[in-house]
Parts: sequence; structure tokens; C-alpha cells
Amino acid sequence: MNRQAFTRAALAAVGALLAGGPGGRGQERPRVRVNGARVTEQLRALAEFGKNPEGGVSRVAYSEADRAGREYVLGLMRTAGLDPKTDYAGNLIGRRAGSSPGAAPIMLGSHIDSVPNGGNYDGPVGAIGAIEVARALTEAGITTQHPLEVAIFSNEEGGKTGSRAISGELADKELDLVTASGRTVRDGIAFIDGDPGRLASARRRPGDVAAFLELHVEQGAILQRGGIAIGVVEGIVGIKRWNVTVEGFANHAGTTPMDARQDAMVAAARFIEAVPRVVTRTPGRQVGTVGRIQAFPGAPNVIPGRVALSLELRDLDMPKIDRILEDLRAEAQRIGALNGTIFRFDEFYVSHAAPTDERIRRLIEEAASELGLSTLRMPSGAGHDAQSIAQLAPVGMVFVPSVEGISHSPSEFSHPDAIAAGVNVLLHTLLKLDATFGAR
Ligand SMILES: [Zn+2]
Repeated sequence: MNRQAFTRAALAAVGALLAGGPGGRGQERPRVRVNGARVTEQLRALAEFGKNPEGGVSRVAYSEADRAGREYVLGLMRTAGLDPKTDYAGNLIGRRAGSSPGAAPIMLGSHIDSVPNGGNYDGPVGAIGAIEVARALTEAGITTQHPLEVAIFSNEEGGKTGSRAISGELADKELDLVTASGRTVRDGIAFIDGDPGRLASARRRPGDVAAFLELHVEQGAILQRGGIAIGVVEGIVGIKRWNVTVEGFANHAGTTPMDARQDAMVAAARFIEAVPRVVTRTPGRQVGTVGRIQAFPGAPNVIPGRVALSLELRDLDMPKIDRILEDLRAEAQRIGALNGTIFRFDEFYVSHAAPTDERIRRLIEEAASELGLSTLRMPSGAGHDAQSIAQLAPVGMVFVPSVEGISHSPSEFSHPDAIAAGVNVLLHTLLKLDATFGAR
């Protein structure tokens, strides 16, 4: 190429960049791609730590396997051009400088701990994916305006300990709970090089993080069944749980006639049957479950005088959960009137819904569409670290399909191409966020 031709080519390249602009609809930046083969290889390597005979992992937080896996991930972070540190809560946080002085970081991340006898994708896909995004940027010589932080949160499966320390939701009394590793949360945090005495210093405030993105496997089969590449998470559903007590009258199972019984079990059975009916009476994706039941005194020859059962309702819309409960109370009263039993509802657990940010949902959809990937908006029925970070920053979540929707099992699987597509969406959503979320 002669000098003139070179100049023309250079000008054309600059022109194309300017026309597209960062985060615009231009075609320059979307050409950056993550290395899918590298992601696959790193997921395979990480699966060695805590691997179980069934082909999954038992890499519960604060175990030796967790510590070894974290060491491996630290190495990946360094190679990706991140400068990783362990915060006081045991979160691994790697940082890549941005070009805009004083801008709050955009954070990407997930977790690498598993449930006992878990799989290789719940958590690692988002953790390895976030590191790969940093590495792709480094290799492409792209500096974002905002600093980039990749967070590998500690003990997600045992109660989102690391991300809740960052959001300030972690209560002191939780530190004495014994985790699946056999260690208390307190000892566990120390075991992974955190400092349980200084957790308050791990906390971030609103404004400290410009935005947060998490890539995760769907853990359901909606995307796979629909042949859809990318789930755009509308939010993490809220959860309410009640202890429901049905009071009847315990009496002799042989001498009490059928029409004179206040059988708490019969009333409980009618109630359990009513739950799916009442929950689905209104349109939406709300779910309701009775997962536990116990009859008292619990003998074959005694009419149950009392039944204790659990009721759980989940939805993105908390007031809707309350409305469904009111419908269920009304139903319980009607059922109780049939045989002289009384229902009592005691709420014992609330987890507030964490909606994702509408602007970020749109950027995810834009990024996916530019990559030629189909999307579907959907709620997340499972809890995630993004739920904690939503307390202090706008968040977005990207789902990739889980084969057969299996999760928390060694059979958990997501196809390498599906994962690579998700990591590319993560990368391009980040670039769009970087351009549109004002770096002051
Ligand atoms: Zn997870």
C-alpha cells in the first residue's frame, strides 16, 4: 500500500469509528469478540476443583476445593489484565483502569462456589465469562471510560454472603451459622483470606458502582424450549413464606363418625389443592408452593388435630404476592367452614424482588440483536448476586439456555456455543453501558 492509499484507508477507518461511535449502531466495536474456546477450556479446568464422581463439583464455599478454585481464578484474572484483590468479605475483585478520571466502576461478576453435589455451570459461566470480557478488551486494546471491576462473589450458594456484605445486608448474627463446608461463615471468610472483623469496610454505597452486569445459566428450560439464545432478566423474584397452621380437633379415629370430625389434615389437603388453582387465577408467571407438611399428633389411629404446612409465593411484583395471599386466606376460610377447622398464617421469610434496570435490559437486547441473537424477557425464579448489588446500583442480567433446565445437579449443562454467545452479549452490553452511562 502506498502512502496515499494508507492515509485513505486510515481515514476511512477513523470515519467508520466516528460514525459508529462508542455504543452506537456502528459496525466497528461489535467486531470485537470473546474467545469461546478459551472460555470452554477454563470452565473445564475450573471443574477439576472439587470434582465429584458424577461429573459435577462439590465446591461448597469455604472448602479446600473452593480455595483452590479461587486460586485458579485469581491467575486467570491476572492474565486478563485485571489487578485482583481479596476484599474483607472474601470477594475476589479485579480492576482494570478506565480513561475517565473519577468515574465509578462498571462491575461484572458472579460466583464459583457450588451447592453440595452441584454442577459446573451455575456461577462459573458468569465468573469465567466476566474475566474473558476483560481479557478480550485487553487483547483488543480497548480502554473503557469507566473502570471495569470483575467480582467473584464469595459464598453465593450459602446465602450470597459476599455480595450482601457489599450491599450492607449481611447481618452479624449470620456469621455464626455453620455452612456446608463445616466452617462457620466467620471462620470461612478468614479461611479464604477475608477479614470477618472488618466486613463493614467491604460495603459499597449507592453511587460507588455505576452499573452491574451478571451472566448466568437460566436454570430452567424456557430458553431451550423456545429456541432462544439470550434471556433478558426482568428481575429476581421476591419471595414470601408463611407457616400455615390448621387447627381442628384430635379425636379417636375409630369412634368419631365421619360427619362429626374436625379433621385438620382433610382441610390441609383441600388447601394444598387450592394453591395452584388460586395462584394461576390471574395471568402472570407467579408461582406458589406447599413444600412441607406435618400432622399432629401424627398417629394412624388419631384424627389429626393440627397440621403445620409451609406456603411460599414468588413473583417480581410484591403487592401481587400479597393479593394472592389474601385470595388464599379467603379460600382457607371457606375450606375451614366445611369441617370446623381454623387456618392461621404466620409470615416468617421475606426476600424483596430486585427488578433489573430498564435501560440495561434494552442495551442487552440491542447487543444481542447486533450479534444476531434472539432474546426473551423473563423473570429469574432463583436468587443471584445481582439481587444484592441492585440495592446500590442499576443491574442487568443475561441468561443463557440450560439444557433440559437441569441445575444444582452434576447433570447441569449449557452448550459451549450458547455460553460464548452469552459472553459476547456481556461484552457488548458493557461497551454500550460504558458509552451511555455518564462517566463523570
Ligand atoms: Zn448461581
